[in-house]
Amino acid sequence: MVGKPHQGENGVTSQGPTCDVIVVAAGSGQRFGAALPKQYAPLGSRPVLRWSLDAFTQHPRIRHVLPVIHPDFTSTAQTLAAGLNIAAPVAGGATRQQSVLNGLEALSTNPPDWILIHDGARPAIASTLIDRVLEGLALGPAVVPVVPVADTLKRIDAHARISETVPRANLVRAQTPQGFHFGKILAAHRALKGQELTDDAAVFEKSGGTVLTVPGSEQNIKITTPDDLWRMEQSLLETRIGQGFDVHRFTDGDHVMLCGVAVPHTHKLLGHSDADVALHAATDAILGAFGAGDIGVHFPPTNAAYKDAASEKFLVHAMELLRKRGGQLTHLDITIICERPKVAPHSAAMIASIARMAGVEPSRISVKATTTEGLGFTGRREGIAAQAVATVRVLPL
Ligand code: MG
Repeated sequence: MVGKPHQGENGVTSQGPTCDVIVVAAGSGQRFGAALPKQYAPLGSRPVLRWSLDAFTQHPRIRHVLPVIHPDFTSTAQTLAAGLNIAAPVAGGATRQQSVLNGLEALSTNPPDWILIHDGARPAIASTLIDRVLEGLALGPAVVPVVPVADTLKRIDAHARISETVPRANLVRAQTPQGFHFGKILAAHRALKGQELTDDAAVFEKSGGTVLTVPGSEQNIKITTPDDLWRMEQSLLETRIGQGFDVHRFTDGDHVMLCGVAVPHTHKLLGHSDADVALHAATDAILGAFGAGDIGVHFPPTNAAYKDAASEKFLVHAMELLRKRGGQLTHLDITIICERPKVAPHSAAMIASIARMAGVEPSRISVKATTTEGLGFTGRREGIAAQAVATVRVLPL
């Protein structure tokens, strides 16, 4: 084993064998049924392939990351890898096995001690899984992460009738990244060039080598269908909370706008827009929950276009941004702080109004009110304050 120190592309110096990664993404994706192959489909804010490129470039033990892509998607791959310090993509071949061999040959001029070979359609690769494969490579020349088979396995005939129950004892499902000592897997791939084996472990096995296994991860799924992508998005959603606060002062008028509902009053609220203090607090809470700035960033009060604007526009925009992040509004809780007008008679209408704007069930919205017992500016009836807390589920960036 080689013990020389080396410096990875991420600047972390570590001791031990050098390790590069080939990320295989050379499919042209007809099976997925979308315009782009699955590895370029958006998963949250990043294409599927970018997730694994990020995971490997951020791992301190990885030296070079080499994507292998279909030549038709060169510019797509270059765009999605923007800002990453990775090798220029290598063109894949007609089969997965040929694509891997192209990657291995490209690395052979400056070979690493170890190589990880990963499917670009497995975005949820944890650094701990990479660690396990690397630990395995200290014990043997080939390592595959595996997960148990939980379902009963059946073989079916040409008419989709079960012909046999397959004993599942000792059966596991193979994942990637699969790790190898570089010279040995390169030799095996060269020797078996032109055959169609489904993974690199099979190439290594067929060349007579022994392959060790380490525990894989059920999160490390391979995206094959749009349903897989949807499931992965659901599993990646995080719960986050945002809060918002706003105040507007009273001026001459005959009603106030609260949660998009016109409430008769002896005054109106003064503001550049319709001064719907509750919607402003709610919008800031939603934006805050996923770090999207605040209402003033998106709708500057210096912009004449928002003069007297209905504040519904602000909340709808925040919800659009949230949905673009793959997010959902779980709950929005608004407290309106004033002596007058009385909010309670209008709270059901306010809840219905916000639910409609946000496109969520009314049960996810709460509107309540309190006074400050005559104290402070709200107590002196100089204006209305509102605060809001939004709970969202959103994909991390
Ligand atoms: Mg405001």
